[in-house]
Amino acid sequence: MTKITGIHAKTLLSAVKPGTDNWFGLRYNLNLYRGCQHGCIYCDSRSTCYGIRNFSDILVKENALQLLEKEIRSKRERGTIGFGSMNDPYMPLEKELKITRRALEIVNRHRFPVHLITKSNLVLRDMDILKELSRIYAAVSITITTADDGLSALIEPGAPASSERFEAIRILAANGIYCGITLMPVLPFLTDQPENIEKLVLKAKESGASYIVAAMGMTIREGQQEYFYGQLDQKFPGIKDRYMQLFGLQYSCNAPNHRKLRQIYDTTCRSLSMPQHMKFYNDRKEKQMKLF
Ligand code: SF4
Repeated sequence: MTKITGIHAKTLLSAVKPGTDNWFGLRYNLNLYRGCQHGCIYCDSRSTCYGIRNFSDILVKENALQLLEKEIRSKRERGTIGFGSMNDPYMPLEKELKITRRALEIVNRHRFPVHLITKSNLVLRDMDILKELSRIYAAVSITITTADDGLSALIEPGAPASSERFEAIRILAANGIYCGITLMPVLPFLTDQPENIEKLVLKAKESGASYIVAAMGMTIREGQQEYFYGQLDQKFPGIKDRYMQLFGLQYSCNAPNHRKLRQIYDTTCRSLSMPQHMKFYNDRKEKQMKLF
């Protein structure tokens, strides 16, 4: 059972150097929790460098909303606030606690742009606020790493199945919310089949995603590695040895066939006219300005 503890945070919004986030165009990061209930076996947030002792126990930043209200007022630059860099803003306990929802209400009141990254269809609960935020800028990226629900249950055991995530994209898109897929990480020997990559792009298109962004590999570092390898031993016997042989102590671990995967991904995206980058807040603002 998840252990949930309240903590007092000193600060909440952390600044991202302008122009350095090429994935999502973030200017600020915000994490309302520490730890994550989704339990993905490959999660980078388990790395020792982040100093979270037991990642499955959840620490709730009890003063997060007061801090957000105070800090957002002091920000001179209206840049995109990213939810979900270190944990999922829609993990199961959010259903009851509604801290992400209330944080979105604050962000909306201050008219800041927002990007959410999640693996949960609980994001649909906040459609009303996302619609409001879309007048400034709101983007929802849903991470889907495999088209196979059986495999997603093994590698992302606490998150909704991949098919439920595609359905969430379909509903978001049908409601006019700018949304897409983050296809990352790609796990060597587990999700790196060309058919998986092709299927994910096809399903993204069918669901109405406006973009798909991908990385054809994963990162492995201290803390994360021990947990990941332990899970491989339990769920996919024999695979850990292949990782150890191929990557040793490497941090950045591309799938051995990453070039081929990238080629398939590029070709499939092109043939379906599926953008491989998302539009950032500034892009959209400039576009609007050109209209006047
Ligand atoms: S949803 Fe994200 S933060 Fe949560 S366990 Fe999975 S990879 Fe880690």
